[in-house]
Amino acid sequence: NSFLELNLSRPLLRACEALDYLKPTPIQAACIPLALTGRDICGSAITGSGKTAAFALPVLERLLFRPKRIPAIRVLILTPARELAIQVHSMIEKLSQYTDIRCCLVIGGLSTKVQEAALRSMPDIVVGTPGRIIDHLRNSQSVGLEDLSVLILDEADRLLELGFSGEIQELLRICPRRRQTMLFSATMTDEVDKLVELSLTKPVRLKA
Ligand code: AMP
Repeated sequence: NSFLELNLSRPLLRACEALDYLKPTPIQAACIPLALTGRDICGSAITGSGKTAAFALPVLERLLFRPKRIPAIRVLILTPARELAIQVHSMIEKLSQYTDIRCCLVIGGLSTKVQEAALRSMPDIVVGTPGRIIDHLRNSQSVGLEDLSVLILDEADRLLELGFSGEIQELLRICPRRRQTMLFSATMTDEVDKLVELSLTKPVRLKA
C-alpha cells in the first residue's frame, strides 16, 4: 500500500513525496491502476477523499509516456465552480512540478485576453468551468480539442445542479470519440447516471 506499487514514474513519485503523501488514499489505490490502463471511470467520491490526485496522477503519467508530436490540448478537466478549478489547477501544478507538463486555468473573473494567450500556447491540460471554456472555443479558431485524449468531469452532480448540462453536451460533441473519460460525483442521482450514459464507455464504477 504505497505509491511505489502504483507504477508511477520518478518525477511523480518525487512530487508525492514533496507533498508528504505517504500512501495512496483508498480512491487513489483503486483509481490509479485502472486509469493507467485507459479505462473510463465513474467514481463516487467526495472532496477530501483524495480524488484530485486519483485522476491527476494517472493523467500526468500517461502524458509523460506519450509525448505529443504537435502542440495541443490533451486533457480537459471540467469543474462546476471557480474555486474548485483553482484548487484542481494548483494540485496539478504541484504534482507536475518535476515535469514539463503545462496546465492552464480557464475561469470567469480572470482576464479573457490573458487566458486566450495561455490557451493559444497549447498547454497540455486545461482546467476550468464549462461556460468560460466554451466561450474560448467558440471565439477562437486557434484553440481546439481535436487532439484531446482525456476528459474529466469533476463533481458531476454539482455541474448538473448548476445548469451546465447544455455546455457539457456541447463540449462532448466536439471532443474526439476515442478518448478516456473519468467522472466523479459525490452523489449518484438519475441525472448523473444519464450523464454517465452519455459520456462514458463501459466505465468501471468506484466508490471512495
Ligand atoms: P481532494 O479530495 O482531492 O480535494 O484532496 C483533499 C486533500 O487531501 C488535499 O489537500 C490533498 O492534498 C490531500 N491528499 C490527497 N492525496 C493524499 C495522500 N495520498 N496522502 C495525504 N494527503 C493527500
